[in-house]
Amino acid sequence: MSGPRAEIDGRDVELRPGDTVLDAAQRAGIRIPTLCHLDGFAPDGGCRLCLVEVAGAARPLAACHTPAQPGMRVETATSRLAALRRGVLELWRDSLPAESVSGGTREFEALLEQHDLAAPGAPSRPAAATHPHPYLRFDAARCITCRRCLHACEEVQGQFVYGIEGRGAATRLVFGESEAFLETECTACGACVELCPTGALWDCDAEGRAESKVRSTCGYCGVGCGVEIHAEGSRVVRVSGAAGSPVNRGHLCAKGRYAHGWQRSPERLTRPLLREGAGFREISWQEAIAWLVRRLREIRDARGPGALGAFSSSRSTNEAAYLLQKLFRAVLGTNHVDCCARVCHSSTALALREVTGTGAASAAYADIERARCIVVAGANPTEAHPVVGARIKQAARRGATLVVIDPRRIELADQAQHFLPLRAGTNVALFNALARLLIEADLHDAAYVSERCQGLDALAAHLREVSVESAARTCGLEPPALRAAAATLGRAGPVLFVHGLGLSELTQGTASVMALANLAMLTGSIGRPGAGVLPLRGQNNVQGNADMGGMPDLVTGYQRLDSPEVRARLQREWGACPPEAPGLTIPEMFEAARAGEIAALWIQGEDVAQSDPNQTRVIEALEALELLVVQELFPSETSRYAHLVLPAAGVLEQDGTFTNAERRIQRVRRAVAPPGEARPDWEVVCDVANALGAGWSYQDPGQVMDEVARVAPALFGGVSYARLEGEGLQWPCPAPDHPGTANLHAAGFLRGKGQLALVDFAETPEAPGGGYPYLLITGRVLQHYNVGSMTRRTPNQQLAAADLLEIHPDDAAREGLTAGSRVVLASRWGETRVGVAISARMTRGSLFLSFHHPETHANRVTSPHRDPGSNCPEYKVTAVRISPA
Ligand code: SF4
Repeated sequence: MSGPRAEIDGRDVELRPGDTVLDAAQRAGIRIPTLCHLDGFAPDGGCRLCLVEVAGAARPLAACHTPAQPGMRVETATSRLAALRRGVLELWRDSLPAESVSGGTREFEALLEQHDLAAPGAPSRPAAATHPHPYLRFDAARCITCRRCLHACEEVQGQFVYGIEGRGAATRLVFGESEAFLETECTACGACVELCPTGALWDCDAEGRAESKVRSTCGYCGVGCGVEIHAEGSRVVRVSGAAGSPVNRGHLCAKGRYAHGWQRSPERLTRPLLREGAGFREISWQEAIAWLVRRLREIRDARGPGALGAFSSSRSTNEAAYLLQKLFRAVLGTNHVDCCARVCHSSTALALREVTGTGAASAAYADIERARCIVVAGANPTEAHPVVGARIKQAARRGATLVVIDPRRIELADQAQHFLPLRAGTNVALFNALARLLIEADLHDAAYVSERCQGLDALAAHLREVSVESAARTCGLEPPALRAAAATLGRAGPVLFVHGLGLSELTQGTASVMALANLAMLTGSIGRPGAGVLPLRGQNNVQGNADMGGMPDLVTGYQRLDSPEVRARLQREWGACPPEAPGLTIPEMFEAARAGEIAALWIQGEDVAQSDPNQTRVIEALEALELLVVQELFPSETSRYAHLVLPAAGVLEQDGTFTNAERRIQRVRRAVAPPGEARPDWEVVCDVANALGAGWSYQDPGQVMDEVARVAPALFGGVSYARLEGEGLQWPCPAPDHPGTANLHAAGFLRGKGQLALVDFAETPEAPGGGYPYLLITGRVLQHYNVGSMTRRTPNQQLAAADLLEIHPDDAAREGLTAGSRVVLASRWGETRVGVAISARMTRGSLFLSFHHPETHANRVTSPHRDPGSNCPEYKVTAVRISPA
């Protein structure tokens, strides 16, 4: 018997370093009642329910606060303790209104019952009108000031919404001026509600009575939080965080937890719609499939397969994305297949593939907690990836050094040791200057670079041309700020680099990510624990969509189309091979459509008329098509131009898988039936393929994943639905007994040696000037997702009713604008009208606009410029001017 031990209730219990008596008892399966304690949180010690008797101690001690000592003898269930606990509970019960002690399911009520103290009665609920928040409610009468909400808010979400006021019997929970959540910095993550033991905090959702519960994956962002979907009949009544998920450990954001009302929106598409004149006519599925197959054949026969193209959906499942690209490649004979990764992280994928050997994240979310230093560059995780944002905030609070590089003073900048508010689009100048400083001061990890990388001498020579002073001027920063940041990076040891679209959606997108990867290699970060490169992916399944082959130049698993080995495998599995030549990217397909070369597009779950840049030209392309097929949940800006609209099942209504930003493939499960005749995308693709004579025989999406494993064995050979139960699997997972891969490049770069890249800063064509003095940055806000088609149809709309143009107070004063003013926002490419919000988080000369609402027309203004290597559009910099509307 090894290690220190103690005796608890007569049982021999092993102790671990740092154990409290409560920890040791819980691990041994001995239940000690608590109310204020939360696993993984600092002990509070306020409730006094966890009292235990320790041999030699004069009086009972709080188990949550008492360190477990070797040889200690502890009793947790004596009659004296039972009486003490009963007394504590009785005091609390009597301080609450009788009708609020309901004998329900909350922990406090269960504890009362266990101690024979339950009282009958129904919970009182103040009228919703007294708490105008769309989701959250508070009933002060039911609050026992156990502080769990306060701990959850601070230690999970990293907000400080709650406080405790008064003493003794007058102690009370406070938030905001008048206990109104909308007046606070509450992000509506719901963590407080989840942990409140009495129901003093509750939400609208919890009022529903769930009959069933399924484990699934959130359908909003690429974080990929594990969720439990609670349903009553055909209605989702609540979504809670899956406590066992390594991604979110039970935590969720306002979208994942609350924004599920879209599922029962009366606006859902429920039957196939065929264009008839200016409108649509409802038709049967049979008619829709027959019509579509006839039109695809006609266009292919008349114009060749190169006249057909498809956009697979990053909102839909891996299985739907795989089958759509297989349909176009193997059945219709074209590689014109792309996905929205093109317009977000295609530059990241290209850059990382070139310099490391694979285009995906090298690190995992678990590295956030292990990291000693985190760089967040061109990403705003607390809004766009909230659960990861909360994890980064907590890591910074626990002592990790944080460096934030962003044109806006994002929330994480408040906790950063270094905040570098660079001019949008100047990342390469900044990263090159930092690399030069690291090399010059000998602050780079020479041993790592010499062992694992190549190109140091060439990079050092290249960077000698880079003046730190001139780079600082380009970026709008002070040289000492660059020197200080470089010194921190050089001394921090391996660093975790978290980046977003502020790097990739630029004409220098690929160059920006390569320059960032230089920093990651110089600091010895890639392939090390607590470090590496972690690009945050936008939509829920954008990673998976590209993995599955939603790319014109690479087939499933990033395999080359001209590889004889790959082609032999495709011939065996598909019975046909796609052309060897790569197809067109999304922007190229739009150009080809305008030129009359692409005649038919199948767009699965992507509202390109709202989301893609230079909207006027996108619409011209859609209008030029002979056939536009749209699979969607709702009528969209794009479906206005469709010839056939197919109603789709949503994330809550179908089975399949998503893959998140850390390469984790996770199950998605059907909780309720889709409305009307809406169907999962993969089933519809199968029907069309079979009507074209493909002879596919998939019985369920699990069989599709089995085929993916055979087609791309290096990445997915060990993936099957049976193995995805629970935590899922991180690819590469090449064999059935392989555990998956949390950290890439751990044993050396997949390409052999990591390549230090030589890249030069080049000014964007959208530099301010010529009557366009401001730089517009577009992006997302916390409450909505992408084109907002789902979140706009939920009460999240009350939390953020419109897209607003954010402007620095000095710029607003100079322009004579106040909050709520409306302006004409114009670029060289188009104009729109928007309301103004004044924000000190903006830097002077920069404007920010989200694009969640179609009436904003944000993408009328954005330019057609794109990264030359990846074709990723430049959403993040557009020269604009503003004038009163
Ligand atoms: Fe869903 Fe992303 Fe929010 Fe997690 S962070 S709940 S995945 S939207």
